[in-house]
Amino acid sequence: MIDNLESVRTQIAIAAGRAGRSPEEITLIAVTKTVEPDRIQLVVDQGVRDLGENRVQELADKYNQVQGAVRWHLIGHLQTNKVKYIMDKVGMIHSLDRWALAEEISKRSQLAGIKIAVLVQVNVSGEVTKAGLAPEEVPDFIRAAASLPGIQIQGLMTMAPFVVNPEEARPVFRQLKQLATQIAQLQVPGVAMKHLSMGMSNDYLVAIEEGATMVRVGSRIFGSR
Ligand SMILES: *Cc1c(COP(=O)(O)O)cnc(C)c1O
Repeated sequence: MIDNLESVRTQIAIAAGRAGRSPEEITLIAVTKTVEPDRIQLVVDQGVRDLGENRVQELADKYNQVQGAVRWHLIGHLQTNKVKYIMDKVGMIHSLDRWALAEEISKRSQLAGIKIAVLVQVNVSGEVTKAGLAPEEVPDFIRAAASLPGIQIQGLMTMAPFVVNPEEARPVFRQLKQLATQIAQLQVPGVAMKHLSMGMSNDYLVAIEEGATMVRVGSRIFGSR
């Protein structure tokens, strides 16, 4: 596992170099779903600072079980009625995909006296099984959500379709980057298009070449689930 982590870090640096980017621009989020806390602790002890979970309950449990200066990322579908359980635990929500959720996050964070960093999830590929807004819906959504006081929009997130050859995911990543550029040009007050959360175990290197600032890697570090 530690070897896997080292190899992922090396690969990230190499892919960044190929794209003329600095590896410091890229945050490795270790995706810990189904992984036991003691195994998560091992990678945290190796300096991993960002952990990703796609379920509220699992995040809340592990939040208490993993020690260290860790930032938790909620990367999976978020039910509106569960927002309250993670407000004080999550550093960033990657799966903002609808208006009711934006309102709820904003309401809860205002009550807590904080602002939550969020990414807007985009369904670039248009697969019906995937969550996220259609690309053409994103500019208006962001303009509206920018006015909600409890959230801070920091970028976009997508999941590429599963493909055997990661090259096939490249157009999806490229489109997300283009969309982020287009939105940045709108200069919506309070909105920063500084993060692109894209790339998983199978395709994170291609995602980095296309501009990812956050890659979400699970099985490549912890083994297959
Ligand atoms: C599980 C998951 C990942 C990581 O998947 P791997 O293929 O194991 O790297 C990344 N993003 C999301 C949203 C996930 O649910």
